[in-house]
Amino acid sequence: MNDTYTTAKRPAVFLDRDGTVNAEVHYLSQPEQVELLPTVSETISMLNSRGIPVIIITNQAGIARGYFPEHNLIAIHDHLRQMLAEKNARVDAIYYCPHHPSAGLGVYRQVCDCRKPSPGMLTRAADELGIDLTRSLMIGDRESDLQAGAHAGCQTALVTTGYGQETSAAIDLKTVRGIGVFPTIADAVREWCNQSTNGAISVEETNIKPLH
Ligand SMILES: [Mg+2]
Ligand SMILES: [Zn+2]
Repeated sequence: MNDTYTTAKRPAVFLDRDGTVNAEVHYLSQPEQVELLPTVSETISMLNSRGIPVIIITNQAGIARGYFPEHNLIAIHDHLRQMLAEKNARVDAIYYCPHHPSAGLGVYRQVCDCRKPSPGMLTRAADELGIDLTRSLMIGDRESDLQAGAHAGCQTALVTTGYGQETSAAIDLKTVRGIGVFPTIADAVREWCNQSTNGAISVEETNIKPLH
């Protein structure tokens, strides 16, 4: 490989979907059910302007369970992207796990490496998008989100939206490389950016052009 064309790996912000980006709906299955949570579009837009990839990482076992077909999920994600675009915000990628270890039929029923708390979706994103996981942040409302982030080597942040209140009462942040518990993703990202020691965002990286 020619070093001239090697781009340095960069930090990213990984976001859980339900209860973190959009309001928690039990097995959300239709595009009309998507409701963006406060600060989400503004925070993603800010990260876009800094050239920091924003990647959604979501377990969607409703597919394995037969609650909705995979094409509904595609439609939901198209709608979510459209809602964000209307607020000048863009996610660089959405990774989902459609599997369940014991429910469902066919290929969906399997012990996979992508279902959170496994880190498979984060490590795949890192390979495909050139992400430095050790300088990245995973934000979510459940312990499995933070465990997936920690297993991937990221720092993690808990938001109190979705199931976050319940999670905050039960979790030991030290075991999941947690930087804190926050009311919104804006607060979590602000704290992450302010941590001078983690080197999450250097001056040079603030001018990196977006992936797309
Ligand atoms: Mg969630
Ligand atoms: Zn999976």
